Amino acid sequence: MQARVSALLPEVDARLRTGGPPPSVVANADDPAIAGTGLAAVTVAGTGGSRARLVVDPSAVAGMPAAALDVLVAHELVHVRLQPLTAPSAPLWMAEGFADLVALDVTGADPAGFWAAARSGAAPSEPPADAAFHAASPARDAAYAQAWALWRVLADDAGMAAAREIYLRCAADPGAFDSAVTAVLGLGRDAVLSTWTSALEATPR
Ligand SMILES: [Zn+2]
Repeated sequence: MQARVSALLPEVDARLRTGGPPPSVVANADDPAIAGTGLAAVTVAGTGGSRARLVVDPSAVAGMPAAALDVLVAHELVHVRLQPLTAPSAPLWMAEGFADLVALDVTGADPAGFWAAARSGAAPSEPPADAAFHAASPARDAAYAQAWALWRVLADDAGMAAAREIYLRCAADPGAFDSAVTAVLGLGRDAVLSTWTSALEATPR
């Protein structure tokens, strides 16, 4: 796990234009940060000069294919770098979707599974609500994938650098998503959401 962190962190930093010490890695399913979440890994922001912690459930990651594990670790490393720049009030779709956008870019993972999950169930008209990301939510996988898909269509339209710019603006001030999209892309929120919902309704080829 530590070796994966060391290999992936420079790639994440290159895309985010961030830097700093790596997180400490804790493999303990009973750690309060991860117990009961149903997640394979969780990032805990550093406080007061302490390093961020990447907490993993050893049994959840043990049988994971290497490619999926790389996506998981890259996703958490995005959280490590961006949590300090993200307001606590930011909706989960912003941070979770953007983390997967960067994770798939860093790892070169095939997005087919993400598209399939994003297109499962009814197509939404608004980004997934925070409750959809909670452990008890039956739509959790779809919520992550739909949040990723929203950032994916933004990045397809404007490029990764512009997607990063939009993220930094709206993560710091979650109410500024609409104005950030307009300032960076020259598009209204409705146009972005319309492209997104069309992508979710499209039949995969
Ligand atoms: Zn996450």
